[in-house]
Amino acid sequence: MAKHQAFHRLAAQSERMDGNLHMPGIARPGKNAVKPPPSNRIGIIGGGFSGTATAIHLARMSSVPLDIDVFEPREEPGAGLAYGACAPEHRLNVPADRMVVFRETPRHFADWLRASGEDAADPAGFVADGTHYSRRAVFARYMAGLFRDTAARNPSGSRLRHIRGEAGPIERIADGWTTGDETYAQLILAVTHSRPALPWPRIVSPAVIEDPWRDNALAAIAPDAEIVIAGSGLTMCDAVMSLREGGHRGPIQVISRRGLEPRPHDGFASSDALSWRAECPQTASLLLHDLRRAIRMEKSRGGNWQGVLNAVRDQLPVFWARLPLAERRRIVRHLRPFWDAHRFRAAPQVTDLLETGRREGWLRINAGRIHALEARDRGRTDVVWTPRCGARGASTADAVINCTGPHPDIARSSHAILRTALASGIIRRDALGLGIDVDADGRAIARDGETASGLWIAGPMARAHMGDATGLPEVSEQTRRVAEALASHLVTDGKPACVT
Ligand SMILES: Cc1cc2nc3c(=O)[nH]c(=O)nc-3n(C[C@H](O)[C@H](O)[C@H](O)COP(=O)(O)OP(=O)(O)OC[C@H]3O[C@@H](n4cnc5c(N)ncnc54)[C@H](O)[C@@H]3O)c2cc1C
Repeated sequence: MAKHQAFHRLAAQSERMDGNLHMPGIARPGKNAVKPPPSNRIGIIGGGFSGTATAIHLARMSSVPLDIDVFEPREEPGAGLAYGACAPEHRLNVPADRMVVFRETPRHFADWLRASGEDAADPAGFVADGTHYSRRAVFARYMAGLFRDTAARNPSGSRLRHIRGEAGPIERIADGWTTGDETYAQLILAVTHSRPALPWPRIVSPAVIEDPWRDNALAAIAPDAEIVIAGSGLTMCDAVMSLREGGHRGPIQVISRRGLEPRPHDGFASSDALSWRAECPQTASLLLHDLRRAIRMEKSRGGNWQGVLNAVRDQLPVFWARLPLAERRRIVRHLRPFWDAHRFRAAPQVTDLLETGRREGWLRINAGRIHALEARDRGRTDVVWTPRCGARGASTADAVINCTGPHPDIARSSHAILRTALASGIIRRDALGLGIDVDADGRAIARDGETASGLWIAGPMARAHMGDATGLPEVSEQTRRVAEALASHLVTDGKPACVT
């Protein structure tokens, strides 16, 4: 039987009512390989939060029916790495009403949690002030449900399908783009987090866990093992939560450059001590000076630094664009670690556990630089490091967990599609080294500096443009803007698919 006939039979068998097409590992061969794709045919590569949210926004806002395929190897769209590669003890780092997918209905997820009974079924999610920090896997279920509901019914009459598999390399054609054998008029690249990779030369040892997001990555660690964790951000928090949940009672030493751990929440209101929307200092040092002044002012009237940081976050998209490139670079190089620790705060369940660990003496967080890992006898590992104020030495551990986070360089991403798109010049790195270069609407800019018509970047990969598009509300807003720009730009059957 011809390959395409076999494919279409299998596709017909496996297409479900929920809009999912299950093709593990492969992209669907194209019916339109020869003919130019219809202008309403849209492909989305990556069905993590960004790709799924973009598909949903498009179907909700278009005035004409669109034909949208979402490529994603996971069983359902919506989870991605953040909400898919997690254990039940891993919680959202903000309460439900901060997980805003639709700005017009900011409590959509919180209301769903209550209506579905998910919050009541998880009493450990509630903290002293009555807010609920949900499990990340629950948010994945919510997103998968949103995708299914939108596929079943949406105002534009669009068709949404999940194609379960990895999309092939992207190529440009006269009237659009191809990925593998499929052809689209518009293509959205929504692939973000690379799997972590050891920042030191690899050593062969089962005691070194390079990727803590692998399923059961920590399961083989003995309960009394001495552990060194490299990195002190939210991934470290996840690892400590999992270890203690799994009965680990041995000592845990955390080492990171600055020893900065995620700070606790203290309210989500924005302070008015800072107003950078209209006018903002034009250098990194003046910005810092202004920020310190605003924090002093806020504290003098009984407020806290968190309110001022919330204000920076709200105003960031506006003032970031006005900062000179050299100053943006300085901010990324020198201030980003401090911003990350204060901006990406941890759930109270997490900060309480870290505090308990410090008090009880099983957790130490150190500032210092790791140089190398060296295998020792009986499966142990030496972590060679220099404390920030001290002499080079080694800590010996039964297990070393790499919590340095997603690999930041797209040229070495674990996602082949990003590596090949970069190598072919379809996309290029942004000037800050944070992700992919885009124009104001979210269109990719190619290596030659030309805007790539019909190729869009959704999600945190476009963050250099906004200053910070990592937290969910910012990612959601970025995907909404990409959807809006794409829909405004589309013309199908002579009618613009303008936003409704
Ligand atoms: C561990 C973690 C926890 C977080 N927790 C929170 C939180 O509590 N609150 C908050 O506000 N923010 C949180 N964030 C931030 C934020 O929500 C994420 O950055 C956001 O989910 C980004 O999702 P994404 O879809 O852009 O990327 P990803 O999650 O990386 O998804 C990309 C998807 O692309 C797929 N893919 C890759 N290659 C291909 C291919 N060739 N074809 C098809 N598909 C492909 C992958 O399978 C993956 O599912 C967290 C981030 C992380 C990493």
